[in-house]
Amino acid sequence: MSVVVAIDGPSGSGKSTVARGVADALGLDVLDTGAMYRAVTQAVLARGADPHDAAACAQIARDVAVDLGERVLLDGVDVTSAIRGPEVTGAVSTVSAHPEVRSVLVDRQRSWVEARHGGVVEGRDIGTVVFSDATVKVFLTASDDERARRRQRDEHDAQREVDVAEVRDDLARRDHLDSSRQSSPLKAAPDAEAMDTTGRSVTEVVDHIVQRVRAATKAD
Ligand code: C5P
Repeated sequence: MSVVVAIDGPSGSGKSTVARGVADALGLDVLDTGAMYRAVTQAVLARGADPHDAAACAQIARDVAVDLGERVLLDGVDVTSAIRGPEVTGAVSTVSAHPEVRSVLVDRQRSWVEARHGGVVEGRDIGTVVFSDATVKVFLTASDDERARRRQRDEHDAQREVDVAEVRDDLARRDHLDSSRQSSPLKAAPDAEAMDTTGRSVTEVVDHIVQRVRAATKAD
């Protein structure tokens, strides 16, 4: 039986760190679906296309090869740090709101998991749409202050110094766009466990999810 762990939540909720910890503990691979939307957005901008043009964005999504390993490759070019930069962060929620773009990437996400017979998948719509029958679903949240601090730390580690107020504004802007879009908005699946990661250690959150997966797979 293949094990799929769906980890959803807004930016700064701890998804990536937790997903990696769960995957390591269970011997699974992780799929960062946000990196896929970011890579397509990078291609849209690099080709001078309009992020609001659904047909153009979908065509680019179909055309490009996105390789998600240790590094993120877009048509063979390393875009690992470019996709975290302000241009892509500013446009990604516009590009990812197009249902035509989502349908291309959701197909790829399902193929990725099928090829590996399971995995830990993190994003915004994994438990609601992409793997609505996932083995375990969690929806991570954290306080606005904590999320802004974490994102600022990520930016600092990437040698981009940003003001915490600026980070807060960007998080609020993306939360609004991602939650209010028509197609696969950011929201918890009814059967997802909501976990507030504020003030909780990564180990504690990871252990809890791993135990849930073990219990769910033992019952089968
Ligand atoms: O996870 P990350 O913050 O890198 O995601 C970047 C953006 O990609 C999100 O703000 C959202 O617009 C989009 N996204 C999405 N669906 C996913 C993952 C990410 O729409 N499953």
